[in-house]
Amino acid sequence: MRVNSVFRWVIVMEEENDQVDLDDDSWALYADAGYGTSQVEVEVPNEELDSEENETWYDGDDFEFEGATINWDAPPCPAPLGIEHIIRIGCCDFCIQRLSGKRTASKGEAGGKEIRKEAYQRNSELETLEKIELCPMCEDLFDDVDNIVKRIIEKIGEVEHSTIQLGIHLPKDLLEEEDRIRSRHGSPGSAPLKTSFVSEIQDRLSDLVNDVTFVKERPDLMILIDGLTLMVEVDIRPVFLYGRYRKLIRDLPQTRWPCRACRGRKEGCESCNHTGLQYLESVQDLIGEPIRISLAAEDTSFHGMGREDIDVRCLGTGRPFVIEIKKPGTRLGNLEEIQKAVNDNAQGKVEINGLRWSNRKEVVKVKESRSEKSYTIRFKVKDIPDEETAIAAISSLSGVELAQDTPKRVSHRRAAKNRKRKIISLSSIIVEDDEIQFLVRCEAGTYVKELVHSDEGRTVPSVRSVLGDKECTVIWLDVEDIHYE
Ligand SMILES: [Zn+2]
Ligand SMILES: [Zn+2]
Repeated sequence: MRVNSVFRWVIVMEEENDQVDLDDDSWALYADAGYGTSQVEVEVPNEELDSEENETWYDGDDFEFEGATINWDAPPCPAPLGIEHIIRIGCCDFCIQRLSGKRTASKGEAGGKEIRKEAYQRNSELETLEKIELCPMCEDLFDDVDNIVKRIIEKIGEVEHSTIQLGIHLPKDLLEEEDRIRSRHGSPGSAPLKTSFVSEIQDRLSDLVNDVTFVKERPDLMILIDGLTLMVEVDIRPVFLYGRYRKLIRDLPQTRWPCRACRGRKEGCESCNHTGLQYLESVQDLIGEPIRISLAAEDTSFHGMGREDIDVRCLGTGRPFVIEIKKPGTRLGNLEEIQKAVNDNAQGKVEINGLRWSNRKEVVKVKESRSEKSYTIRFKVKDIPDEETAIAAISSLSGVELAQDTPKRVSHRRAAKNRKRKIISLSSIIVEDDEIQFLVRCEAGTYVKELVHSDEGRTVPSVRSVLGDKECTVIWLDVEDIHYE
């Protein structure tokens, strides 16, 4: 009887997951950690093949198996001689079970014991073999599972989570040797060491902790196990919140602004009153601190859809932002309460609305958005023309395309270039004494103060130029709206 007529293989392989959430951190290095699974379903019409049949299994032609000629003394599992072979070379019960291709009543080690027992019954000589120290397939790694699981639970502590992703790092030479033996002697489709090890840890962890799902991407907790040192690291993945903020006052930076004198040293310096900050408050912290406290997190980072200058208010429905909350101790905050905590804390300065859960993808979306914006700007004009002339001149800017060189005030941090930006509309022009105010809607990235004062001719045309080269000095600027979604 030929082996392939005795067994019919159904091999279900899931592709290895190579689409691990590639956050810009070291965890990406473990993207190959073997989260894929492979299952082998074996249909054995007659479990108890008698030994005579075993002897006559390979009675025919040369039988090719995965490119190599079969070693008739040790054919691949699940042939009884194959199972004998993996016992002879010293495989542990875990590895016997995963290589055997046999369906056993119990999983893991206990399943391996069953298979070993059967093999001993068929050939009692196996029982008397000299004991081999280390399993050649795993170097007795499976013996450490309980220990590792214990460390994982300790490390997780009280950190709230519902999903976990495991990453395991194993020595390359062990993996190569394991792969060599498995592909030669293991039953086709046997799970590789990493996969088997990860699922063994998951199984045992599941027995001890409730309500945890193991995932292949975007986990709450990323757990990395070093198979060599048995070190366990738990990386608490960040959570993200989206909202819009209104900045109601001037002289408030959007993000934390380190002290210029000491560059934000932790102890600070005299000029910053030992705070390390140039401005004590920022939109980032006024919003971020209450959120950080609510979620028992370590820190936050703030991603706004662009930013307004420190002296510019942001009104209307506000500026969209995504805040990243790092190492949160809890991931289940009540958003209404959090929003209220922020607004109470920042009363009169900053106000947020529409707070909801978000993700890293939205950070990119918000940062890359090219939404149009509306502004109100007020400025002083030297030798101001009469009202009618001024309004007519300024109105002519509605719909024009500006050519703007990188403004002087930002040229220290931006490469000099000339860009074209469209004034979508310009309206609500008010002239009062020597001051003018108007509402303007323009493309993302338009330098609005420069549109008014011309930045020494770097912006063409400008309010200054259409007024007949009258000197214009900006008094204030408000973002009136950000036209996003
Ligand atoms: Zn083993
Ligand atoms: Zn300082």
